[in-house]
Amino acid sequence: MKKADLIIRNANQLLTIKSECPKTGIEMQNLGIIQNGAVAILGEEIAGVDTTKEITENFISENIIDASGKVVMPGFVDPHTHPIFVKTRENEFEMRILGRTYKEISQSGGGIRSSINDVRKASKEELVELGLKRITKMLEMGTTTIEAKSGYGLSTASEIKMLEAISELNKISEMDIIPTFLGAHEFPEEYKDNQEEYIKILIDEMLPEVKKRNLAKYCDIFCEKHVFNVEQSRRILSEAKKLGFKIRMHADELEPIGGAELAAEIGAVTADHLVAVSDKGIKKMKEAGVIPILLPATTFSLGLKKYAPARKMIDAGLPIVLATDFNPGSSHCDSMQTVISLACTEMGLLPSGAITASTLNAAYSLELGNKIGSIQTGKQADILIMDMPSYKYLPYHLGSNCVDMVIKKGRVVFNNSQR
Ligand SMILES: [Zn+2]
Repeated sequence: MKKADLIIRNANQLLTIKSECPKTGIEMQNLGIIQNGAVAILGEEIAGVDTTKEITENFISENIIDASGKVVMPGFVDPHTHPIFVKTRENEFEMRILGRTYKEISQSGGGIRSSINDVRKASKEELVELGLKRITKMLEMGTTTIEAKSGYGLSTASEIKMLEAISELNKISEMDIIPTFLGAHEFPEEYKDNQEEYIKILIDEMLPEVKKRNLAKYCDIFCEKHVFNVEQSRRILSEAKKLGFKIRMHADELEPIGGAELAAEIGAVTADHLVAVSDKGIKKMKEAGVIPILLPATTFSLGLKKYAPARKMIDAGLPIVLATDFNPGSSHCDSMQTVISLACTEMGLLPSGAITASTLNAAYSLELGNKIGSIQTGKQADILIMDMPSYKYLPYHLGSNCVDMVIKKGRVVFNNSQR
């Protein structure tokens, strides 16, 4: 008999999502389900995964959780978020419904520039306090790892301040947070007519400073018409690569300007959004091994009708990933469960494929696939107990929190039934 610190047993369905690589094609639908499954946890790691009968015969523990009638699955991984900001922007949401243009919203004091002004004025402590509330809510909805971007400072000091706030949140919260530098989110107001100067600051000042302080694993850019064009993006990302940053990209969200193609050329880890991706872009991404991250909550929140061509990318053999894009403007959605619902109804993913895209494949998009994203012996014990009879129930119960319990690194950090 082996000793375990915690055993979860009698799960109606245990979704292991076992794999040694990101899942593609029809394999995305294989959740590696164990009926009447159980997990044994020792310390922060998974020590055994099998049927309840097998685990009970091999492991002993003083702490047993009974998951009868429930689904046990890996914690969600949300690999594209912007959780550090000051004020929410619900007024813009209403203005968009009223048919106001981007320019009208911007002139009324809204838009990304308002977030930039607020973040520049805020203290790091204020950003941490606000961020902690948001991240705690994500955790309660089953997200156990997130990627978090800077990008509302757009000056060296305020971008550093945002990244330091992210680093602090990683220390004080239960969430694992992977930091990304997004100084190229937009051109700040003061360099609107002098883009070259801002690019120079990005390359000569911000990137080396962020690297020196070791504040970000990734460098991201908003590559889009009227923001950073392909040529500017290539220059900035090439410099970032030289300094040792890995690359993520906001690519082809609104127009097919060749963002996906650039992601492939530059060897980016991910290309995100891709609503307007070209067939050539899909082909290039596949050849170069770029992982596509799709953000249906953004399309939905903006009230747009055209979603990223997920089925086409799956048919091309790409390992689809889902994320919230949580931010104060275009997607104030912090729930991976809602994203999974939208991916099914709006992009034609099956519930099984959407779950794979939100766990295992999402972990690989953060280069953490060997540590999180599935329930396998030796992996970190980031596990959800979901109050639902089968995995198919998850996207079907739209807009609700189906989480019963969140286990992070082997410890129960949220218990919905004890609220
Ligand atoms: Zn984004």
